Amino acid sequence: MTDYDVAIAGGGPVGMLLAAELALHGVRTVVLEKLPRPTGESKAGTLHARTAETLHRRGLLEAVQPKPAASPRGGPVTFHFAGLFNLDISRVVDEGPALVGSPQAYAEQVFADRAAGLGARIERDSEVVGLADRGDHVVLDVRSERGDARQVSARWVVGCDGARSTVRKLADIAFVGTPGTVSALMGDVRLLDPLGAPTGWQRNHRGWTLFWTNPFGHSRVCTYDFRAPHPDRSAPVTLEELSAEVERIAGYRVPMDQPRWLTRFTDAALQARTYRSGRVFVAGDAAHVHFPAGGQGVNLGLQDAVNLGWKLAAQVRGWAPADLLDTYDAERRPVAARVLYNVRAQVGLMLPDPRVDALRELFVELMELPQVNDFLAGMITGVDVRYGTAHPADPLGGLFAPDLRLKVGATVGSLAGLLHAGRPVLLDLADRARLRAVADPWLDRVDVVTASCDDTFAAPTLLIRPDGYIAWTGSGLDSDHHTLTVALRKWFGEPGK
Ligand SMILES: Cc1cc2nc3c(=O)[nH]c(=O)nc-3n(C[C@H](O)[C@H](O)[C@H](O)COP(=O)(O)OP(=O)(O)OC[C@H]3O[C@@H](n4cnc5c(N)ncnc54)[C@H](O)[C@@H]3O)c2cc1C
Repeated sequence: MTDYDVAIAGGGPVGMLLAAELALHGVRTVVLEKLPRPTGESKAGTLHARTAETLHRRGLLEAVQPKPAASPRGGPVTFHFAGLFNLDISRVVDEGPALVGSPQAYAEQVFADRAAGLGARIERDSEVVGLADRGDHVVLDVRSERGDARQVSARWVVGCDGARSTVRKLADIAFVGTPGTVSALMGDVRLLDPLGAPTGWQRNHRGWTLFWTNPFGHSRVCTYDFRAPHPDRSAPVTLEELSAEVERIAGYRVPMDQPRWLTRFTDAALQARTYRSGRVFVAGDAAHVHFPAGGQGVNLGLQDAVNLGWKLAAQVRGWAPADLLDTYDAERRPVAARVLYNVRAQVGLMLPDPRVDALRELFVELMELPQVNDFLAGMITGVDVRYGTAHPADPLGGLFAPDLRLKVGATVGSLAGLLHAGRPVLLDLADRARLRAVADPWLDRVDVVTASCDDTFAAPTLLIRPDGYIAWTGSGLDSDHHTLTVALRKWFGEPGK
């Protein structure tokens, strides 16, 4: 008997959301977080569409926004690729807001409250310093700031402990990719002459300055120096260093004081060679890091959490098919690899070298083409993600199920609401009682819902995974009985187990 079913090292946004996902299924979960209390600092301030859609399927979308958008959908939403603000990301988003204001620290607290409310234990001042995979369970060595040591055992461990993940290193998972070439600084400071500061994102041959100016409080200031990476990545940043770097790049002094948070980062693009080693997984920044171009990092991590959560819960509950846990790596590693690729491309396009100027101009022209806009917007927002299915010919299989408006009996709702419990759903829009009966042996783990739907949708019946992706769609033919059985087995195991 272990202390927990799952121990999560790291209580950042990814660890906390994963804990909430596991606790939703009654999995005995602990989060071991190094810091005695949250820092309250937010690197990321927004969430992209696929993350928003995913959180909507758990009823969390409103909760993660300190100021929920008054209207869920509006007109065009301008976004950038490589600092070129010519994308309209709303064109590829079918539901909800294309961009959601959600400071990382705020969302993290929402996930933490939800996890704790569902019964997960959150232990702060608990740094994971040792790990032994004993084959049928894992033992973690945990240390407090004062040096108190203890051990925690769990059937499974997930390292959500950030870019320098201790769990990843202890599990001997290689972190591979391209090294840093850029030295970037970021700080929240008070600008003494906000109107005199550079506006927005500025590029010149010396580098970039990025200003999110708040004349009434703290402004976020960023600098990118493309000449070389920081000689010492862990050296603390001072106000003088940030100020001098702004002056060097902008060409004039920008007075600032009251630094609240200063940090340095680079464009190293690294990824875990595998997301699983025995009983140990990695997720979030522990699995992938990259330059924060396009604000994709936290989104990737949160979607890792929702992909892994139900699979690990299925394993703990005893009905997971043999290879289900391995689909986490198979599905999520290529998605992150693609983000690393688009970020590397953005860094290349952002070079301050005048020889890149024409390339940037060409790119602006290309981005005016709807197909190019939609291709890039699909990548950045994550709405182009598609997973493999049991039937490669299934036209909608592996896609994210749209938030269809449904009538279930007398109740009007939408597909997202059916997924709040984190259980798979067989959704029958054509009242096919015999086909529904195929799922009877799986009723302990699959919800079967008959509904009517006025939205135009190409499938009469669909099987939806807990993370919102379509596992199977019916064609309306008799062969559906067979293909549905195959899909149920592939994703949700042998019946009655
Ligand atoms: C400057 C900068 C700007 C960024 N801007 C954006 C943006 O605009 N949009 C975006 O989407 N992403 C952005 N990111 C990336 C985003 O912040 C990360 O992807 C996100 O923080 C990842 O969350 P996480 O939970 O995986 O890791 P983290 O947030 O790093 O959390 C890891 C947690 O693990 C804890 N921990 C570490 N080691 C241990 C241990 N041994 N034992 C126990 N606990 C441990 C840490 O204390 C921390 O709480 C930015 C990153 C940087 C550096």
